[in-house]
Amino acid sequence: DAHSVLEVRVTPYAASQLMMVVRDVTLIKQLEEMRRDFIANVSHELRTPLTVMSGYLEMFDPDMAPPPAMWGKAQQTMLEQCKRMASLVEQLLALARIENSDKPDFEEEVDISDMLMNIYREAEQLNQEKHHSIELNVDESINIIGKEQELRSAFSNLVFNAIRYTPEGGEIIITWQKNGRGVEFSVEDNGDGIAPEHIHRLTERFYRVDQARSRDTGGSGLGLAITKHVLSRHDSHLNISSKVGEGSVFSFSFSNERIKNKKLETEF
Ligand code: ADP
Repeated sequence: DAHSVLEVRVTPYAASQLMMVVRDVTLIKQLEEMRRDFIANVSHELRTPLTVMSGYLEMFDPDMAPPPAMWGKAQQTMLEQCKRMASLVEQLLALARIENSDKPDFEEEVDISDMLMNIYREAEQLNQEKHHSIELNVDESINIIGKEQELRSAFSNLVFNAIRYTPEGGEIIITWQKNGRGVEFSVEDNGDGIAPEHIHRLTERFYRVDQARSRDTGGSGLGLAITKHVLSRHDSHLNISSKVGEGSVFSFSFSNERIKNKKLETEF
């Protein structure tokens, strides 16, 4: 009847089994949520440039052809949007490649100082509008055993971010130097800095502190997610320290086992 009490006795073993099931269900739910978020984010990122492009293409209706004076601007905007989509797809593929593949045995010896000079040259182009002063302190004698293509994206993402997220006329210091335990790479900027509540989320796919502004800078929102994976495949991890109003330092280290000292030319 309505007043009777149902008594359920749960043995400790059954209770622990139940806990495991509950934990599994929570994990599955979290994974499902992440998957849904990811698809929503990708769709959103692709939809924006498509909307812009179809707007311009509609203008080219034969019945209401736009004046030739507008063609240049239309062509330029559509090209920019195509490049943005291409870069997003490229980054998604890069992420999928490193997320899905096992950690390989790296054989390549990577000349980091040479790589940093190349990144610096590319950075100068991006810096044309920003007029930052960029200082490069590189120890040329240290090579790394790793995967060149992956390492290039890890190093360049941090350098390009510093340029993009630092207001005009900033100072950026790039350092690649030995310390007691191995070698450290750091990129320091005196930009706006990042509030503590955002810092631990920056390496999530598509996480941005300021959605609108970051998109304007041409970023895909995947750079730091890629960097994190690349570093973990090289037994390293990304450190971020930042102070609002003062700037940020992004850094990572490699232990001595991964270092290959460059043979320096000796003359007899
Ligand atoms: P995005 O393509 O948006 O740059 P990232 O994964 O490279 O994606 O970076 C994620 C977010 O981290 C950026 O949107 C930006 O808000 C923040 N961020 C990254 N680097 C810096 C920096 N040097 N200074 C301030 N904010 C940064």
